[in-house]
Amino acid sequence: MSTLEGRHFLQIPGPTNVPDRVLRAMDMPTIDHRGPEFQALAKKALAGIRTIFKTENPVIIYPASGTGAWEAALVNTLSPGDLVLMSETGHFATLWKKLAERLGLRTEFIPGDWRHGADPAAIADRLKADKGHEIKAVCVVHNETSTGCVSPIGAVRKAIDDAGHPALYLVDTISSLASIDYRHDEWGVDVTVGGSQKGLMLPPGLSFNALSPKAIEASKTAGLLRSFWAWDEMLAMNDNGFFPYTPATNLLYGLNVAIDMLHEEGLDNVFARHQRHGAATRRAVEAWGLEVLCLEEANHSGSLTAVVMPDGQNADNFRKVVLDNFNMSLGAGLAKLAGTIFRIGHLGHFNDLTLIGTLGGVEMGLNKAGVPYKAGGVQAAMDFLAKGSDDREKRQAAE
Ligand SMILES: *Cc1c(COP(=O)(O)O)cnc(C)c1O
Repeated sequence: MSTLEGRHFLQIPGPTNVPDRVLRAMDMPTIDHRGPEFQALAKKALAGIRTIFKTENPVIIYPASGTGAWEAALVNTLSPGDLVLMSETGHFATLWKKLAERLGLRTEFIPGDWRHGADPAAIADRLKADKGHEIKAVCVVHNETSTGCVSPIGAVRKAIDDAGHPALYLVDTISSLASIDYRHDEWGVDVTVGGSQKGLMLPPGLSFNALSPKAIEASKTAGLLRSFWAWDEMLAMNDNGFFPYTPATNLLYGLNVAIDMLHEEGLDNVFARHQRHGAATRRAVEAWGLEVLCLEEANHSGSLTAVVMPDGQNADNFRKVVLDNFNMSLGAGLAKLAGTIFRIGHLGHFNDLTLIGTLGGVEMGLNKAGVPYKAGGVQAAMDFLAKGSDDREKRQAAE
């Protein structure tokens, strides 16, 4: 049996499937990035992206992957030796911490078990104990892509305020932006980090820093060295719709169309769609008799679901069976989760039938790979999707 016909199912939690409409929008001749046509394109992108972060403040667009915007958030606001408080939600929080240390920052991790989101109470306790205000920034990953656990960003803001602490608040939304409800201004975030290749439905290559007035003020005295990532020249040039260096012009065409698509659907509908697909996926996992990695009912991700393999079963063998037989890529377990979990991406350009196809590939893969499971996961997800929300979902929504 050939496995190459039909579309590849790219069901990793980023990069995600790019809609044809976005691909067509990017299929354009490259233009002069100092000319009037570019200026109109960039002005639309710079204004449009603010509506996705829900901010009235500037958003910087870098021609870089998300990691670049991680670095940019730190080097623009902090000085060598500054102490940064982070929460160990999983692999991506760990990578951000490592990056901070390589830049010459001191870091402190609030320990976590990679099955929960960040704990606002623990953050509040640590900040209250920091009477001398040695901590200069609190960093949280909104959607921990390695575990499928969401952190409560508004509650962490409240924890910082309750502690009366002046630390900057930096949030990574690389795998939640345009998939899970997010409000940069309302939640008082100083720098939000985003990327193009997950909920925004674009190819990799763009990343973002959404700013606050407090972050811009901090950037005027921050002592870490920076040039490519520096906000000052970006902000000055962006004011006129230009960039200090060559931007990723064709990705900006795609970005404008992706933003249009998100607003045509309505951001609230986009978030509800992701939540619903997460809930349907968990129904399937439960019916298979497998375990969802994230242990917090309130903090399950709408972007992805991480599934724990039964004892003695290797998740990477299973993923290989799925790829070889059904032409579908599933996400691997990262770092200490390698081999013991796999991740189902259900974010971005995605609908009910994409989910059922995805879950069908997983169920057939479990069968083919000889993983012990109970049949009926796809059926459970179909029942859930066909009926809209079931009683359990209504109870949760009421809480
Ligand atoms: C994907 C991801 C990153 C890394 O982004 P790159 O674009 O691969 O550099 C960082 N944080 C989170 C939460 C992510 O999902």
